[in-house]
Amino acid sequence: MTIDKFNFNGKKAIVRVDFNVPLDENGNITDDTRIRGALPTLKKVLSDGGSLIIMSHMGKPKGKVNPKLSLSQIKDAVAKALGADVEFAPDCMAAGDMAAALKPGQVLLLENLRFYPEEEGKPVGIDKADPGYDAAKKEMKERQKDFAKKLASYADVYVNDAFGTAHRRHASTAVIADYFDADHKMLGYLMEKEVKAVDNILKDIKRPFTAIMGGSKVSTKIGIIENLMDKVDNLILCGGMTYTFAKAQGGKIGNSICEDDKLDLALDIMKKAKEKGVNLVLGNDCVAGDAFSNDAHTKVCSTMDVPEGWEGMDAGPETRKLFADTIRGSKTILWNGPAGVFEFDNFTAGSRAIADAVVEATKDGAFSLVGGGDSVACVNKFGLADEVSYVSTGGGALLEAIEGKVLPGVAAVQG
Ligand code: AMP
Repeated sequence: MTIDKFNFNGKKAIVRVDFNVPLDENGNITDDTRIRGALPTLKKVLSDGGSLIIMSHMGKPKGKVNPKLSLSQIKDAVAKALGADVEFAPDCMAAGDMAAALKPGQVLLLENLRFYPEEEGKPVGIDKADPGYDAAKKEMKERQKDFAKKLASYADVYVNDAFGTAHRRHASTAVIADYFDADHKMLGYLMEKEVKAVDNILKDIKRPFTAIMGGSKVSTKIGIIENLMDKVDNLILCGGMTYTFAKAQGGKIGNSICEDDKLDLALDIMKKAKEKGVNLVLGNDCVAGDAFSNDAHTKVCSTMDVPEGWEGMDAGPETRKLFADTIRGSKTILWNGPAGVFEFDNFTAGSRAIADAVVEATKDGAFSLVGGGDSVACVNKFGLADEVSYVSTGGGALLEAIEGKVLPGVAAVQG
């Protein structure tokens, strides 16, 4: 079923959202992007004349109640965003009566699902190496089914709109779908948009296709880099991983961030790119700092010759031009991970040059997807989020989807 076709009139919908919003010490929401992201789906249910049971996780309470991660803290913000009163169910396994009492237009928010170990379905208090682990895992999987069944019993229809957790087979993101028939489970609008954006990148590629991979480490990005190698025309590798590549080629990198156990991997990536005819773009100059601080002294140097006591912290001017020239003229663009320590204002120039070129290419008709890691924070910092084609809300989920993996949260609903 698709959400647009479904009429929620008189129905109770249980909707998995990603309300894992950042809170300050006083429990105030510091960024409500995720709440706003779920509104189209939630409002559709209410405006059709349905009632809502909203469920989410927050943080990593690891199967235990933790008041600091209680969703009660965001109840009022959700009510305000929805323009409706919101009831709160402090125990999501004992919310049957509250759910049954819901009338059209009414909203119930369940407590943090991850207060229960069944949500994630991982056995607690036992190590993978312990002899009883397999039995404990099996038992927990059974408990997870019961947990999901209970949640399912609250509603007539299940909607999954939590892209951020779509790569996890948790009770509320996938297992629950087994208790609804195909006509009564669906993706929410946000999920549909995310899935379509990934499809644009993987299936409907307009060339040239340029992927920009940055961030701190090559190790966390290797799966996606290898997968992209078969698809892209240009592969820009930037950020901290620059120095692993430089060292692998015999460069001196001073104090720059480096994964010494990934030097062979870096050389292998370079070799594969050559074999596959991919234009691998690595920077040749960098802005180095004499301390990991915004106020560090800076100097521009070759990425292959960073002096002792200095560390490469941003792309240099030649590199910025090289990146921008590569990005301009592209028709499909994927950007994951900043080109420097963008959190420090003095080291944003590389990421800014990329962002500007992506925006320019988008204006010229490219499809640009920004997501995963810190790239979203980066485009937000530059105020450019509205000027790229799509900003994904998913970190790990986006990367796994682009690696070509089937996301359990999507598969469970779409079959
Ligand atoms: P990721 O989560 O893998 O996308 O990595 C993002 C992080 O990489 C950001 O916090 C950046 O500050 C960091 N980063 C980017 N370039 C560098 C660099 N040259 N040295 C150290 N950290 C970097």
